[in-house]
Amino acid sequence: MSNETLQAVRGMNDILPDEAELWLWFEEEVRDWLHSYGYRNIRMPLVEPTALFKRAIGEVTDIVEKEMYSFEDALNGDHLTLRPEGTASCARAVLQHNLLYNAPQRLYYSGPMFRHERPQKGRYRQFHQVGVEALGFAGPDIDAEQILMCARLWSKLGLRDVTLQLNTLGDTASRHRHRAKLISYFEQHRDMLDADATRRLHSNPLRILDSKNPAMQELIAAAPRLADELEEDALRHFDEVQAMLRRHDVAFEINPSLVRGLDYYNRTVFEWVTASLGAQGTICAGGRYDGLVEQVGGKPAPATGFAMGVERLLALLQEDGMVLPKPEVDVYVVHQGELAGQLASKVAEQLRDDRLRVLLHCGGGSFKSQMKKADASGASVAVVIGDDEAQANEASVKPMQGGDQVRVSVQTLVATVNKLIK
Ligand code: ATP
Ligand code: MG
Repeated sequence: MSNETLQAVRGMNDILPDEAELWLWFEEEVRDWLHSYGYRNIRMPLVEPTALFKRAIGEVTDIVEKEMYSFEDALNGDHLTLRPEGTASCARAVLQHNLLYNAPQRLYYSGPMFRHERPQKGRYRQFHQVGVEALGFAGPDIDAEQILMCARLWSKLGLRDVTLQLNTLGDTASRHRHRAKLISYFEQHRDMLDADATRRLHSNPLRILDSKNPAMQELIAAAPRLADELEEDALRHFDEVQAMLRRHDVAFEINPSLVRGLDYYNRTVFEWVTASLGAQGTICAGGRYDGLVEQVGGKPAPATGFAMGVERLLALLQEDGMVLPKPEVDVYVVHQGELAGQLASKVAEQLRDDRLRVLLHCGGGSFKSQMKKADASGASVAVVIGDDEAQANEASVKPMQGGDQVRVSVQTLVATVNKLIK
């Protein structure tokens, strides 16, 4: 066996305590925000049958072609995948448990997602999303509400410099017409296509529009536009979404080349983008996916949703200068001697019964070294118990910001500490 230090898997990050504080704060803000719109939490497994993602996301997408952590279960040969996103699992869960057809559902989940991408700033192999899905809603009102709720979150978090890009992908018939036109257009310019585009020319030409290859941008810009093929229904839906956003003063930019990296979208698609994070500037993305539920085996049901990239959002918060106060410790309990140790541990539990945050000194040491630790902990109050106090069933209370130490009975300790803290 080698003695080499083991490291985390490339592109998968530890979130250390200092940073985890920001995560906790963020998760609480997000939960309150979601509940204020009536969304309810759902939790799906991290591992799903590979077939789910192939069917839901599409065989010819970046995710399914090259980003999935797929493996064979060594014990029974099942084909499994670490989830690369949550929408497919959410639709699967809703169908499996028959949640959908009696009443529409507003659902959210959060947690790690896995994609085998090239790790770089804002792009990891394990990253976290908060996913928000509304299933069983067909109208433009829910599309607008979801966008509106994003805008509310940005302002609640104090994020500046986030802009909204909006597009519509229309419905199946128009996409088919557009697809045929795209194929013939790109066939005429075959010599200008890169390897990815050539491969996708017949399997999924719409994906070519999503290419990030700078050499192809000119070709893409002049390609036949889906906008010219859209049916009246889809256009009206899109107009209404826009009208609602205007009524709420949510600014947006129509981006006709916004097609999203997954196959299941139709009609409204959107991305929230920031210029402050360099190349990985999309912090939140989503749209309508009316075909997905049927695709994963249910009766057709309209739906719309979005996912936020938590790492990118937190990076943006830090970029904007967000600093959190350290979590507070109310009391540090210092003790020396066997009897004192027993009383100290009892007293600490008593203080916690009263919802105080208490650090009980562990590991011995002189009073002086323990007091240093009490100081460093940031506690407002130190409770000091020596054998002398312990014999008398008493404790000394010392305000850490200065002031006199007082000695009180254990029965009145909680009250004394509380008075000093307030
Ligand atoms: P990109 O174009 O950046 O690859 P995407 O279209 O693949 O993004 P989605 O599947 O829509 O991303 O996921 C929603 C959000 O999740 C993204 O907008 C982004 O904020 C975040 N995200 C996606 N992939 C990663 C990743 N590998 N690392 C960190 N965050 C990610
Ligand atoms: Mg991607």
